[in-house]
Amino acid sequence: MKLERKAEIIAVGSELLLGQIVNTNAQFISKHLAEIGINVFYHTAVGDNPDRLKQAIQTAHERSDFLIFSGGLGPTKDDLTKETIAETVGRSLQLDTAAFQSIEDYFKKTNRTMTPNNRKQAMILEGSTVLPNRFGMAPGMFLEHESRFYMLLPGPPKELEPMFENEAKPLILEKLGSKEKIVSRVLRFFGIGESQLETDLEDIIDAQTNPTIAPLAADGEVTLRLTAKHTNISETNRLLSEMEDRILERVGEFFYGYGHTSLVEELAKACVKKGMTLSAAESFTGGLFSSWLTELSGASEYFKGGVVCYTNQLKRDGVGVAEETLNHFGAVSAQCAKELAAGIRDKTGSDIGISFTGVAGPNTQEGHPPGKVFIAISINGELEEVFEFMFAGSRSSIQRRSVKYACHLLLKMLESK
Ligand code: ATP
Ligand code: MG
Repeated sequence: MKLERKAEIIAVGSELLLGQIVNTNAQFISKHLAEIGINVFYHTAVGDNPDRLKQAIQTAHERSDFLIFSGGLGPTKDDLTKETIAETVGRSLQLDTAAFQSIEDYFKKTNRTMTPNNRKQAMILEGSTVLPNRFGMAPGMFLEHESRFYMLLPGPPKELEPMFENEAKPLILEKLGSKEKIVSRVLRFFGIGESQLETDLEDIIDAQTNPTIAPLAADGEVTLRLTAKHTNISETNRLLSEMEDRILERVGEFFYGYGHTSLVEELAKACVKKGMTLSAAESFTGGLFSSWLTELSGASEYFKGGVVCYTNQLKRDGVGVAEETLNHFGAVSAQCAKELAAGIRDKTGSDIGISFTGVAGPNTQEGHPPGKVFIAISINGELEEVFEFMFAGSRSSIQRRSVKYACHLLLKMLESK
């Protein structure tokens, strides 16, 4: 069997339709199916209503060949997923003794009394494989019916997620006869928009087969998830590295790290690697840069501290910006940014001083529009650079973008040092 199945996720629960909960299960399952090369074509959400659920099952059965259900496996009357599937596909529900035993054990372990409706949770679809639930009571199920796969998973994410990773995923790969080793590698980029990145890589993306390339943009950053498959794991990794090289040849200047990392984390690593210390003078960012750095453990190794110098008085008395600079150029100026970076570096004895001055908005300041930002970096007194930006967006997004740009600029400067 080929991996090219058309999957559909059917999330069951009126809470989803009422806007009381977010359908994170669909997101989770989609992300993990993409990693193993299965295409999800539809997300369906349906309330706790047997007629509408039945309709959703019939539609999915016609247009998809892998149906994944989340929710409605519990003991209460409104939990009707498996009952409705049983009726729709014409199978009975049977008591699974192992599942019943594990529910009994769960009650004993948690010192609670079992109520008769809990027996309902141990009823499974005739002919299905049970997916044990290690974090709750309702077992999951896997069923092959009319050459479709049906997979039933519990609603609570803390039950669904480990069940998917530990029980469902290996079973899917086995059923699909895949002996292939599937590995993903995520490349993170900053300072380039998603459309620009896709344009720069258009021919590579269009020709993708193995590895596949999935772009994703979030929070001002773009990631590319490369997924390769091969029966030989070292060949899988070679395919990934080869593709990575081709991509970085074109857009390497915007690349900053792999997988679950962040700009600030990479900056921290670079400071440690270079054995350099850092201090910050922050005006309109209000300490955001310092706050992000100190969220990481071990920050004291490279971060000496800083000043939130919001007023001109503090820029002058606290950091050492010349009165003349403030009068002549204003606080929102390249000159002020430079003096702030050099001043904080001097005062703290750090190797690097970094500064932020600008207009977070929504009002103009000194005649400058919101989004006008100056970031200066002063390294060891030997290098001094000021960067000027004009950002759009809300107050907080201007602050966040500024801090991200600062991390990226400094990171690139340290890398080339
Ligand atoms: P239980 O045995 O807890 O009743 P269940 O399998 O019957 O589990 P539901 O009753 O549908 O699942 O949902 C239980 C809880 O799981 C919901 O209140 C919600 O917190 C969470 N949940 C359900 N569906 C989703 C979803 N699609 N995305 C994220 N969370 C969900
Ligand atoms: Mg329930």
